[in-house]
Amino acid sequence: MNSFNQNIALDTAEIILDIKRDDLLHPHISGNKFRKLKYNLEQAKQLNYNTLLTFGGAFSNHIAAVAAAGKEYGFQTIGVIRGDELYSQIANNPTLSFAFSYGMQFEFVTREIYQKKESTEFISFLHQKWGDFYLIPEGGTNALAIQGTQEILTSEDAHYDYVCCAVGTGGTISGLIRSAFSHQKILGFPALKGDFLTNEICKFAPAGNWELISGYEFDGYAKVTATLIEFMNDFYQKTQVPLDPIYTAKMVFGVMDLISKGYFEKGAQILMIHTGGLQGIHGMNQVLLQKKLPLITTHV
Ligand SMILES: *Cc1c(COP(=O)(O)O)cnc(C)c1O
Repeated sequence: MNSFNQNIALDTAEIILDIKRDDLLHPHISGNKFRKLKYNLEQAKQLNYNTLLTFGGAFSNHIAAVAAAGKEYGFQTIGVIRGDELYSQIANNPTLSFAFSYGMQFEFVTREIYQKKESTEFISFLHQKWGDFYLIPEGGTNALAIQGTQEILTSEDAHYDYVCCAVGTGGTISGLIRSAFSHQKILGFPALKGDFLTNEICKFAPAGNWELISGYEFDGYAKVTATLIEFMNDFYQKTQVPLDPIYTAKMVFGVMDLISKGYFEKGAQILMIHTGGLQGIHGMNQVLLQKKLPLITTHV
């Protein structure tokens, strides 16, 4: 499959709004997670590793992506999962059962241990238990990941004035910042609250023509409201573009809100990056059902 830029028709002709369908990059390795894994997989192969180990929560797009990539590129995969109660719930959890079906083995840990997952103590415990492995950090962000996310923008995207993306660990926006053309401005929409993100991004990308726009976190990471779900469903009806509830829906909501408030100048050309994440819809719908909130109707 290939990613392409799809136009989003707006009521106003004064602004051009497109979305890069990086969600279509690969059927099972979601958009930016594919980008972030690409050079890590090459490195792991070159260094003769047979096993990848990484970390994530019960609905993690990254966990699903690593499991699928491991299967496709010939690695064993181990997922260290936050929440030891999930041990008995693999079958009921769409992300974990997907990863399991792609051969991932799990190490379930309590939230307390998960917080210390990068300590030398815990890593050496993992080595004792699982042997040698190539370690990929939570969310997949490291220097090689940014080499991959630098490939999202191409020379065909040079005419855009703004490039907008969702921000989790900052790996995606860092690649966009590094590969942007000098006249372009990169706007990041954090999916979680906290002011640590700017520092994270500065580890990998120069200061300059980029900005984080807060206020569209919808109460925080993986939290959603009826307004957000209704927005996603409506957006899908109008454009046939399915959004994910944790990242891209919040970013697109933010961009639409900024447009309606006159943030962008007349004639502005805006590119939103669809970073994928659609595998999380099934799990989110289970949560929404329990909370008696509206369900996401864009099926994938
Ligand atoms: C992980 C993820 C992000 C966040 O990317 P970072 O590189 O961690 O900032 C954005 N969108 C989707 C769909 C994701 O799965």
